[in-house]
Amino acid sequence: MDICKDVECVRAFVNIRKQQSKTIGFVPTMGYLHEGHMSLVKASKSMCDITVVSIFVNPKQFGPKEDYSKYPRNLERDLKLLEEAKVDMVFIPDVDTIYPEGFSTTINIGPLANVLEGAFRPGHFDGVCTVVTKLFNIVKPNKAFFGEKDYQQLKIIQKLVKDLNLDIEIVPIPTKREEDGLAMSSRNTYLNEEQRERANTIYKFLLKAKEAFENGIKDTDKIIEYAKAVLDVDVVYYIKIVDKETLEEKTAPSKYDRILIAVKIEDTRLIDNIEI
Ligand code: AMP
Repeated sequence: MDICKDVECVRAFVNIRKQQSKTIGFVPTMGYLHEGHMSLVKASKSMCDITVVSIFVNPKQFGPKEDYSKYPRNLERDLKLLEEAKVDMVFIPDVDTIYPEGFSTTINIGPLANVLEGAFRPGHFDGVCTVVTKLFNIVKPNKAFFGEKDYQQLKIIQKLVKDLNLDIEIVPIPTKREEDGLAMSSRNTYLNEEQRERANTIYKFLLKAKEAFENGIKDTDKIIEYAKAVLDVDVVYYIKIVDKETLEEKTAPSKYDRILIAVKIEDTRLIDNIEI
C-alpha cells in the first residue's frame, strides 16, 4: 500500500494508473475508521481497479465550538485496516498541504447547505464542499463513495458534481449499524456505557416512525409524536421528513421520503436517517 502526504505524490501515483487505463475509486474520510468506512472501501474495491482512501480531519468543516481538536485519531490503526483491506494508496495530507498560506477559495452550493445540519452548523457544508472539491481535483477519481449515514452531505456532493460538471460518479453506500441499530460513527467513541445504551434509541425512534407511516399515519407531526416516546436523548436539534432528492420538508410524507434526526447525548452530537 502506497502512502502519500503531498499532492505531487498522489498525482504521480494516479497518472501512472490512468495511463494504464485503470479506473480509480476514491473514499474520502476523516479517519478513526470503522466498518462503515470499510464498506465504502469494499464497494470501491469491487467496482474499480484502484482504490484510494484519504484521511484528513478537515478544520474548515468544524465550527469554533465544535470538536476539531478532540476529534478521535488513530493513524496507525487506520493504516493497518486499510492495508488489510488491500487499499492501493492512502493520502494523508497535513492541514498546510490542503490549505497553504494564502488559500482563500470557498465552495458554497447554495440553499441546500443552509437547511438541517447547515442550519445548526453554519459554514459546515462550505468546508465539506471545499475540501471534497480539492480532493477530487487531486485524486481525479472515476467514482467516489459516500455513506448514506451523512445523507445531506451525500445529496450536497451529488449536487456539487452536477452543478460543476465534475466527471465523477458518486456512489451512495447504505449505513452500517451496530448490532443494536446504532449507526457506526467515529463519534460513538465519545459515549460512555450509559450514553451508548441511550444512543440506540435513535434508530429505534426511526423504525417506530417508519412503522407509524406504514400503519397509515400520513402526517409528519403525528408520526413524530407517535415515535418520540422511545427516544431517550438530551437534546433534539431536529427531526424532519424530507424529499429524498431536494431535502424539502414534508408535512404529509410519501413513500421513499427520508426521515432525518440530529440529537445530543451529553456532549455528543449524533445524526441518523432512514427511508420512511
Ligand atoms: P467521516 O470519516 O465521518 O467523514 O466519514 C467518511 C465517509 O464514511 C462518509 O462518506 C460517511 O458518510 C461514511 N460513513 C460514516 N459512517 C458510516 C456508516 N455507519 N455507514 C456507512 N458509511 C458511513
